[in-house]
Amino acid sequence: MNALECPRCNGLLKTVIYHNVEVDRCARCHGIWFDSLEAETLKTIAGSEILDIGSVNYSAPNDLTSIDIRCPRCEETMIQIVDIDKERLWYEKCPDCQGIWLYAGEFTQFKRNFQSKSIKNLAARLINKLLFWRSP
Ligand SMILES: [Zn+2]
Ligand SMILES: [Zn+2]
Repeated sequence: MNALECPRCNGLLKTVIYHNVEVDRCARCHGIWFDSLEAETLKTIAGSEILDIGSVNYSAPNDLTSIDIRCPRCEETMIQIVDIDKERLWYEKCPDCQGIWLYAGEFTQFKRNFQSKSIKNLAARLINKLLFWRSP
């Protein structure tokens, strides 16, 4: 398997595994690449922010709009997503493989965002399950 290259600084991405979820973290700038849904999965696992070893001040660029970031997997130009909740953060998403790139420190913020919503969704799902089990 070829090592992936960091879309931001061209450092090498190293595979890190947390609770059976594999992500790729840049050895240089500590940004993290998540394949489709990996970030959402990790968001629900307690303690997963340990993967985010960098500090947001170190690598988050101020002028994101002028940077063309390409997906490390399929080389598509990634689109910028703004996530505004408890924290305001920008990240990049690949329109093709749906993978996302978070700058160092952003996963911690990403985890804090929309917490209550995901708990609500989870509760709704559990309730649906209970109703399903009760139906004949
Ligand atoms: Zn990097
Ligand atoms: Zn992609």
